[in-house]
Amino acid sequence: MTALHDHSTRPLIDIRSDTVTKPTAAMRRAMADADVGDDVLDGDPTTRRLESMVAERLGKEQALFFPTGTMANQAAIWLHTRPGTEIFVDAESHIVHWEMAGASALAGVQLYPVRGATRVMRATDLAAAFRPFSAQGMDASLVCYENTHNGAGGVVSSLETSRAMCDVSRAAGLPVHLDGARLWNAAAATATALADFASCADTVMVSFSKGLGAPVGAALVGSAEHIARAYKIRKRLGGGMRQSGVLAAAAIYGLEHHLVRLADDHEAARYLAKAIDGVGGATVVQPDTNIVMLDLPSPCADAIVARAHALGVRVSAWTPSRIRAVTHLDAPMELIVATAPFLVQAIAESLS
Ligand SMILES: *Cc1c(COP(=O)(O)O)cnc(C)c1O
Repeated sequence: MTALHDHSTRPLIDIRSDTVTKPTAAMRRAMADADVGDDVLDGDPTTRRLESMVAERLGKEQALFFPTGTMANQAAIWLHTRPGTEIFVDAESHIVHWEMAGASALAGVQLYPVRGATRVMRATDLAAAFRPFSAQGMDASLVCYENTHNGAGGVVSSLETSRAMCDVSRAAGLPVHLDGARLWNAAAATATALADFASCADTVMVSFSKGLGAPVGAALVGSAEHIARAYKIRKRLGGGMRQSGVLAAAAIYGLEHHLVRLADDHEAARYLAKAIDGVGGATVVQPDTNIVMLDLPSPCADAIVARAHALGVRVSAWTPSRIRAVTHLDAPMELIVATAPFLVQAIAESLS
């Protein structure tokens, strides 16, 4: 990477995603010091502690630690559905775009992608998508929504909006799974309790490897009955995780030390959005949380990514005409302030 830089003294920043954070020295110490056991035999004490903390914060009976959020989402889909049914899911969601058609391959369900009339799927979009009962129509088995919504630019669904989606789904007899990989950000941005958001779904996935800065990990929360089934599905998807407390310790560290600083990421995202909005005719999607999307007047995202990289700023191409930047733990405000001019330069040069 260094070889690409024009000046070796220039500050570097990687804001392609909030998954690029590296565990801090203190987080690594917590991992090294974790009390562990064989989670498949007698249970791992640190993993149990993490699961209790998460279940309590989200106001659900139980939680189960997963190596990834993708696997937790897939376990949730599997446990709620039956093969040969359909599930309603936001057309631009992680489940549709990034989970390798797992819902079809593993749970045997069909995805019904619902496109939101505004930026993300809402209750009215769902209500319009539900099929009226008929002997010829197929059965639905689940609704999934995402909060915050990644692809739309970290968009928050407020508590009221979330409740409306949940209400319309339950009225149709459908359980609800919330992909809350960044639910922490939604809660921080709106001063809403995590448990209130979680009450809008039967199961919730939360991620530890995004804003909380853990190396990997997610949890699925829900009723004791749902989590008992998720445990078996997790095993079928890949097995048990023996001394998983080493990883759970990182997640606990993130919950105890990094959750409180998410508002800083949101502030940094607002700063960055303001700095790049309008450059070369590009338009920023005003960020609700830590994700900044920039829509380009021409499909030159790759050129901007390459030029920004050469200038020391790593961003990603979300589509040929959309750039994505995400603020995080390792991209503090000072660094954003110091490097934003180089991103501005890369955009201006590529669009001129
Ligand atoms: C990152 C992410 C996931 C998947 O989490 P992994 O731990 O990377 O598998 C799922 N949903 C959303 C919205 C995400 O941003």
